[in-house]
Amino acid sequence: MEYKTEEPVIGIDLGTTYSCVGLWQQQQNRVEIIANDQGNRTTPSCVAFRGSERLVGESAKHQTAMNPTNTIFAVKRLIGRRFSDVTVQSDLKLWPFKVIAGLGDKPKISVRFKGEDKIFAPEEISSMVLIKMKETAESFAGCTIKNSVVTVPAYFNDAQRQATKDAGRIAGLNIMRILDEPTAAALAYGFGDERNSGMKKKVLVFDLGGGTFDVSLLSIKNDVFEVKATAGDTHIGGEDFDSRMVEHFIAEFKRKHKKDIGANPRALSRLRTACERAKRMLSTTTCTAIQVDCIFEGIDFDSSITRACFEELNLALFRSCLETVKRCLQDAETTKESIDEVVLVGGSTRIPKVQQFLQDYFNGKELCKSINPDEAVAYGATLQAAKLSGQGNKDIQSLVLIDVTPLSLGIETEGDTFTVLIHRNTPIPVKKDKIFTTGVDFQSVVAIKVFEGERARTEDNNLLGQFKLTGILRALRGVPQIKVCFEIDADGILHVTAEDTSTSVKQHMTLINVDRLTTEEIERMIEDAERFKAEDEAHMRKVRARNKLENFAYDLRNAVNEKKVCRSVTSVHRRYIKDAVKLVIKWLKQKELLSEHVYEKKMDELKRDCFPHVATIYQNCRNNLDYTDNLFTRFYMLRIGHVTQNPKIEEYESEMSDLSD
Ligand code: ADP
Ligand code: MG
Repeated sequence: MEYKTEEPVIGIDLGTTYSCVGLWQQQQNRVEIIANDQGNRTTPSCVAFRGSERLVGESAKHQTAMNPTNTIFAVKRLIGRRFSDVTVQSDLKLWPFKVIAGLGDKPKISVRFKGEDKIFAPEEISSMVLIKMKETAESFAGCTIKNSVVTVPAYFNDAQRQATKDAGRIAGLNIMRILDEPTAAALAYGFGDERNSGMKKKVLVFDLGGGTFDVSLLSIKNDVFEVKATAGDTHIGGEDFDSRMVEHFIAEFKRKHKKDIGANPRALSRLRTACERAKRMLSTTTCTAIQVDCIFEGIDFDSSITRACFEELNLALFRSCLETVKRCLQDAETTKESIDEVVLVGGSTRIPKVQQFLQDYFNGKELCKSINPDEAVAYGATLQAAKLSGQGNKDIQSLVLIDVTPLSLGIETEGDTFTVLIHRNTPIPVKKDKIFTTGVDFQSVVAIKVFEGERARTEDNNLLGQFKLTGILRALRGVPQIKVCFEIDADGILHVTAEDTSTSVKQHMTLINVDRLTTEEIERMIEDAERFKAEDEAHMRKVRARNKLENFAYDLRNAVNEKKVCRSVTSVHRRYIKDAVKLVIKWLKQKELLSEHVYEKKMDELKRDCFPHVATIYQNCRNNLDYTDNLFTRFYMLRIGHVTQNPKIEEYESEMSDLSD
C-alpha cells in the first residue's frame, strides 16, 4: 500500500510497561526520540481513573499506590487474548485492578470512573496510551500527526495484531504498518552502519522487556534486513520478575506477622512498586533494602534481598529464555557459532544474570550493548515510517525489510487435523492456496475453521475464526473443488477467502475474527475517545481556573503583608482583605472541582471587594512603595492581565486611582 505523504510521521513502541515515540525529522533526515511533558524519553504505559479525572502516563503511574484498583498497567498482556486464557488468569491474581469476562470470553477492565462502574476493552486502554504518545510528538512538532508505525512483539498472533491495529484506529492514528519489535531494533542497530557494507551479518536480537520476550534472527546485508526466524514468549518479562519477588515477600510477611497482604490491593500495589525498584538496584548492587511504611494494618515492612536470592527466584524464567533462543536458531537452521552479533534490547536485559546466561551460551561472546535498549524499537519504527511515507534520503528509501510470520496457519480438516497452509517463519507478505473437497455426498455447505499453532490436532491450537461457505455444487463426496486462500499482509494480519471453483459462481468470504471488536464497537470507542479528550480539556480548564483563584487569593494576602505597607494606618483595610481571602480559601477547600466560570465569578467578587481597600492602603503608603518589586506591582500586573518589563510609575498611579473611584 502507498502511504506517500509530506505530513510528519512517527514510530511508536507501544510497550507493556513503557512506551516510546520517535519523530522523523524530515529536514535533518534523522530520528528524534521525543521526551514527554516530564522530560522522560519513555512514558509508563499506564492509565488511571481518579474521581472524574483520567490520567495517562507519568501522572497515572505516580498515583498508583493511592488508587490501585483504578490504575491500569500491562494491558498489552490482555490485548487480543481470551479471558479464560491461563496466562490471563495467572496475571489477574496479582493485579490490583479488576478484569472481568466480557462477551465472547473477551477480557474487559472494570474501573470506577465519575462515580460509576465503567467497563473498558483492552484496545481502548491501549488507545489512550497511543494518544498520549501521539500528543507527545505533536507538542514537539507543533502540529497534528496521524501517520505512524506501531510495533508489536514478533510473537504476537493474528488476534493480538488485529487488536493493536484497532487500538490505533480508536486513537485516530493511521497505522501505516505494524512492525515487529526485534526487527525495528535490528533496524536501529544496523541502519547506516558502515561496518555492514558489503558483508552479510547474522544478528540475533534478544528483546526482554516488561511483559514480553522476543528473539529474532536477522541477516543484514547493506540495506536489506531479512528476518530468518523468530521465537518468543508473550509471557516473560520484568513484570514476572517483579511478581516472583512480590510472592516471595508476601510469604515472608505471612511467616513473620501471620497476615496476608496479598488480599489488600493497596498493600500489593505498594509492595510491587518497591520490588520493581529493588530489582533495578540489584542490576548494579548485590544487596538492597526494601521498605514500605505502614504496609498493612499499621505494620511497617522492612526487609532486604540479595542479588543471588533474586536470581534464584527467577532462575527458571531466565533459563527458559535460552530455550527460546535455541528454538529460534533451530528454525533458522543455523548454529550459535555462526552468529555475528547478539543485540540486547529491552529494560530487563540490564539484569546481570540474563546477560551472563546469554554470554555463556554464546561461548563467551561479547554482547552488543551499543544501542539504547529503551529507545531502539521506537527508533527503528520511525525509520520504517520515514521509508513508507517516502520521506528520508535515498539510504532510507532503499531499506528493505523482510519479516516472517511467527506461527503456522491453517484450517481444520477431517478428524480434527490441523492442515497447514502457511508454515511459521515464512517471509511476509505471502499468499498461499490449497484445494480441499467435501467429505459427504451432496454436501452444500462447508465450515472453514482457521487455526494458528504448531500442534497436529486443532484442539491444541488457537482458533482464529470460522465461516461457512454455502451453495457448493451438489455432487458426490470428493468432487467439489474448494480453493482456500490464505494471505498475510505486511502487518502480519491474515485474510482468508474460500471459493468453490467447480461452479462458475465464485464465493469469497473474509475471515471474521472471533475476538475482534465490531465496527460499531470501534466507532463508539472513537466517539468516546473524542469525548474523553474534550472532558480532559474541560477538566484542565477547571483546574487552571481554580489554581488561578487560589494563587490570586494568596498573592493578595501576601501583598498586604509586605513590609513596606505601613501597618498602623492601614490595619482595618488589611484585616478586611485578609478575612476576605480566608473565606475564599475555606470555600475552595470545601468544594469539589467546579466549573470554571464559578471560579471566575468568585475571583471577580474578591477583586471587587478588595480592590478599594488595596487602593486605600496604596494611597496611605505610596511614599514607601517602590514600583519595581513590591507585591502591589505584581497585583497591578495580575489585574491588567499582562506583565510589563518596566512599569511606569504613572501607570500605577492611574490604575490605583481608578480602583478607589
Ligand atoms: P516493555 O517494552 O515491555 O514495556 P521495556 O523494554 O521498557 O519493556 O523494559 C521495562 C522493564 O525493564 C521493566 O520491567 C523494568 O522493571 C525493567 N528494567 C528497567 N531497568 C532495569 C534494570 N536496571 N534492571 C532490571 N530491570 C530493569
Ligand atoms: Mg519493548
